[in-house]
Amino acid sequence: MRLHAFSKRVENLELSETYAILDMVRSLREQGEDIVDLGGGEPDFRTPNHVVDAAVEALSDGDTHYTPSRGTKALLDAVAHKYKTEHGFDLAADKNIIVTPSAKHALFITLMTLLDQGDEIIIPTPSWVSYKAMAAMAGATVKAVPLDGKNGFMLEADALEQAITPRTKAILINNPNNPTGRVLTREEVTGVVQVALKHGLYIISDEIYEKVIYGQARHISIASIEGAQDITVTISGFSKAYAMTGWRLGYVVSCERISNELLKVHQHTVGCAGSFIQRGGVAALKGCQHRIADMVTSYQKRRDRLIEGLQSIAGIRCVAPEGALYLFASIADLGFENSLAFTRWLLSTAKVAVTPGTAFGEGGEGYIRLSFAGSDEAIDEAIRRFHQAFK
Ligand code: PMP
Ligand code: GLU
Repeated sequence: MRLHAFSKRVENLELSETYAILDMVRSLREQGEDIVDLGGGEPDFRTPNHVVDAAVEALSDGDTHYTPSRGTKALLDAVAHKYKTEHGFDLAADKNIIVTPSAKHALFITLMTLLDQGDEIIIPTPSWVSYKAMAAMAGATVKAVPLDGKNGFMLEADALEQAITPRTKAILINNPNNPTGRVLTREEVTGVVQVALKHGLYIISDEIYEKVIYGQARHISIASIEGAQDITVTISGFSKAYAMTGWRLGYVVSCERISNELLKVHQHTVGCAGSFIQRGGVAALKGCQHRIADMVTSYQKRRDRLIEGLQSIAGIRCVAPEGALYLFASIADLGFENSLAFTRWLLSTAKVAVTPGTAFGEGGEGYIRLSFAGSDEAIDEAIRRFHQAFK
């Protein structure tokens, strides 16, 4: 028997390069290798106890059934309250929000809802690995707008505008950015909104790292800019700020017109997010926020520790990221063939896993991404091994 081929959709798709590294580190460790992991954006903190307790209590209460498709009332209200108090805009809990099993799923239903075969979506790059794959699954193509590291990865409205063609449907922004760590200024986000409004484009704003911000940087939610609410789909979640990666919980916020369409894809792909998981989400949003502040303080210390350790290695250059969990460092002066060759060399010589900049698309060559979400010990050991390897 000869079976038919798989769909063109999957035949043209690659596995996730960030997951490839997460999986590789796990498997090498299982084989007994002593790997230091600066690859994935996986916080090493435990989920705060009050969040765990709320979910355990929900399980004991028998809260183990389908919830309303948009999410439980308690969680929708908590998300609406968050946007009112933190970003200053009003949301109707039953019309503008959908709770999803992960921010990744929120992005997926958004791209499936907004993009058709042959459409184009503008994405400033370097950008997170899964956007391009999701756009491809929707049949669309990515029009990359490569940002210049020498210019601090600044986002210029002119560059976005130049990328627009009659097929352009949307602009996707990730702020704070994975992998560059840039947090957009008010001028930059306003520029995005102006371009989108002028050309009738949707904005997809991935704000998953919104609470992971350092120093003077301030996160501005794009939908809080005047005129943006009716065209913007905002995505956020619990994975990063609350150290809840394994819970798979996120949400998507938009005007009612868009939200009703998103709901169709959501209902037919997953239906609703986990019931007891959502109880954890309520506790995370409504409970004490001190643990988050403590975790962010620790990330900032780890960031500085990593930068300080790398400073003495000639040929590696980096600037301190203003947000997110990654250092995007230039290795262009080290003389390696490309960033993938460097990461392979580093893994085999020093047993340190990092992500090649090329995983993040155009503008990523010559860079590596180092995650400082892991422990202080991992960072210290990575630095020790870097020095050893460069001797
Ligand atoms: N967006 C970005 C930029 C990410 O780095 C990630 C990975 N955490 C996600 C979305 C997906 O997050 P989640 O764990 O909620 O699926
Ligand atoms: N977002 C994390 C990263 O960029 C986790 C892996 C993934 O979901 O891509 O490393």
